[in-house]
Amino acid sequence: MNAVQLISRDIEPIMRVQTKVVEYMTGFFVKKGFRWLLPIMLSSITDPLWPDPAAAKMKAPEIEAYGSRLKLMHSMILHKQFAIGMGLEKIFILSPNIRLEDRDRDDGRHSYEFTQLDFEIAHASMDDVMSLIEELITGLFDYVRTLPEMREIEREIPEVKSPFKRFTMKEIEEVYGDDEKASKAMREPFWIVDISREFYDREDQGHFRNYDLIMPEGFGEISSGGEREWQYERIVKKLKDSGLSLEAFKPYLEVAKAGKLKPSAGAGIGVERLVRYIVGAKHIAEVQPFPRIPGIPAVI
Ligand code: AMP
Ligand code: MG
Repeated sequence: MNAVQLISRDIEPIMRVQTKVVEYMTGFFVKKGFRWLLPIMLSSITDPLWPDPAAAKMKAPEIEAYGSRLKLMHSMILHKQFAIGMGLEKIFILSPNIRLEDRDRDDGRHSYEFTQLDFEIAHASMDDVMSLIEELITGLFDYVRTLPEMREIEREIPEVKSPFKRFTMKEIEEVYGDDEKASKAMREPFWIVDISREFYDREDQGHFRNYDLIMPEGFGEISSGGEREWQYERIVKKLKDSGLSLEAFKPYLEVAKAGKLKPSAGAGIGVERLVRYIVGAKHIAEVQPFPRIPGIPAVI
């Protein structure tokens, strides 16, 4: 595709749906008393996204600024924990993320520049966050189903009822093989819980207190979250066990050591992935005015 072909795509109805989706979601969090933080794009530390069986190992690009080496953000997870530490009880951010994944296949779901609606709640449990997301998704789907745009793009999203079904990652692997195959087999959104991954997701008696929300019909994961580790010794142990450098997380560890991190839980919802599901687009590039697909040169 060249620049003229890109400019000639009819993306207007999808952007109208996206506007309603973002308006609904931000309104939802504001009404529930969340503080709306603005995103940052650069920091000396960011999400290692490792270990994570679902992600390809990657390194955040860095720039030199005023004597600091700053990384482009993989996600704002660590900054969400800092914000909770600042005394903000409930926060959300529309956060742009850059992830230069080394992927050997294009699954229609990954872009290397995308936006998360990322939120975090002090002292919350996984059940608190999962029911909040269920309330958000069922309300949002009921609302978008009524939009004239949905008739225009000829998409009917199925009715959803909460609570959504929950499976452990172990159950998914035993029954379906992986989350992608499970997504293809399922007719309604469902949860996968207890997923072995990053150091900041809280572990309790050998189980991870985390969760992914998966859309049916092969659309796959649209949200990931978890309860968080906040105690210094546990964080250090988990960083070491993951083979990550303690030096790379210096300010985070200083704050944890000073006892300034608090228990919290939250999640990030991929805006492009959610919009892709709602409009029923085959590929995430169809909902990005400026597609950023790993392995494919950007047109504009
Ligand atoms: P994560 O915590 O890494 O799962 O990211 C949170 C959410 O952001 C995911 O559930 C997706 O909806 C979205 N997301 C993550 N990586 C990508 C990507 N490469 N392209 C598009 N959306 C993504
Ligand atoms: Mg995820």
